[in-house]
Amino acid sequence: MYAKIKILFIFFILFFIFALPAGASEIQQITFIVSQPNYQVNDQVKPMDAATFIENNRTYVPVRFLGDALKAKTVWSQNIKMVTLLLNNINVSLNMGSKIITINGQANPIDVAPVLKNNRTYLPARPIAEAFGFKVKWEKEGKKVVVLPPEKPAETKVLNETTNNNSPDNKTDHNKENKNEETTLELKTGEENGLTKATIIAFQPIKDYKIFKLTAPDRLIIDLFDIRPGNLPPAVMVNFEVVSQVRVGWFSKSPDPDVTRLVFDLNKKAAYRSYLSEDKKILDLEIFTPKPGEENLVVLDPGHGGNDPGAVGQAGLKEKDVNLDVAKRVKEILTSQNIKTELTREGDNYVDLYERSGMANNYGASVFVSIHMNAHENRDANGTSVFYYCYFNGQKEEEIVRQEKSKELANITQQNLLNLLGLRDRGVQQANFAVLRTASMPAVLVEAAFISNYTEENLLAQEYFRQKIAQAVAQGITDFITTQL
Ligand SMILES: [Zn+2]
Repeated sequence: MYAKIKILFIFFILFFIFALPAGASEIQQITFIVSQPNYQVNDQVKPMDAATFIENNRTYVPVRFLGDALKAKTVWSQNIKMVTLLLNNINVSLNMGSKIITINGQANPIDVAPVLKNNRTYLPARPIAEAFGFKVKWEKEGKKVVVLPPEKPAETKVLNETTNNNSPDNKTDHNKENKNEETTLELKTGEENGLTKATIIAFQPIKDYKIFKLTAPDRLIIDLFDIRPGNLPPAVMVNFEVVSQVRVGWFSKSPDPDVTRLVFDLNKKAAYRSYLSEDKKILDLEIFTPKPGEENLVVLDPGHGGNDPGAVGQAGLKEKDVNLDVAKRVKEILTSQNIKTELTREGDNYVDLYERSGMANNYGASVFVSIHMNAHENRDANGTSVFYYCYFNGQKEEEIVRQEKSKELANITQQNLLNLLGLRDRGVQQANFAVLRTASMPAVLVEAAFISNYTEENLLAQEYFRQKIAQAVAQGITDFITTQL
């Protein structure tokens, strides 16, 4: 059940989309007359079970009949009160009461919102028809809205744009490959015990991707960089417990790098996990309603390792060993509280900096904590500090939110460390560390004590003290997670 039916469904939609490219061109004229419970397509009169009306100078038509008239596929998502119309690869959605029309993933303001009257949804005819490239005229005399089809089917335009990407004046590297747009991306969705599973199959490695959540309405967004949507349908209705539909858009295209955006419209707050296959061609995603403790995956990063010992104390204590021991203790505490935890290294091995944050990104972790001990030439230097990355400068909204949350996590962690360790407060500090900058979730780097300070090295050598650090870090993480729910 998981994959097969849904694949069939996707192919059905594909067939539907590509089988009807001429759908729009058959229409010569659609006419809605205010207060009339019917509309006309060319010369044919079609009945409606409700009448068109005018409000705020806009003509409203019952959603079902507007969709039928335009030959668009119409889907109503009850839980998020959203109407989606699909025609010729153009996906238009509106939420009840919202003056925003979303066309292929791009939000645009409109002057009126869809309205509910007598338990029926009415859409403003003009912005919808125009979104699909139709021309709309208002004939005052007969109180008629006349809708004329696009001069060219919208799909031709899309294909032309694709062709233009390969024009000789476009010199970006990826255009040298003669890509087959039919087979860039596949999407399979299924449901098991309320758990939505999605598999994204790319026909070239997914070098980079980003997953984040947006609210009002709740959505889970996946951006695939340097990947084109190919012939994925713009919307797939799934009606699962957690996910109502998946929308696909070509979020950014030439001359900018290609970004394919998948939007999972959520029926309720949801958590997710993602796994990228070793060849980076398959991205598996699980979306689910969090059970206590299950929502958050914490990734702990014991600094240094292998041939990189980190700082070494006067008595010979190596930072890499202390970091790993503390991280394992934090993991044990969190695991005992049913919080899923992963380490970027389990043993004394070298891990690249980018690989560390990359692991957290690929796991879809909700918290990343890198564990270090501080060092300074001045052996008197001592105390506790926690670092986070902060660089507000024209960043995307989700990155600004991430940086603010990183600061919160840093503050809570520092407070717990001070309470439990009683060392000098060196404060929460900003730093441009690669592991913090490249993580896509709230991320901090803990410098619990100075291994270069003889007194603190002595403390770090003792098990009870490392356990205290672990308790403080774990408490900081759980405090943070609790405030986020
Ligand atoms: Zn270090």
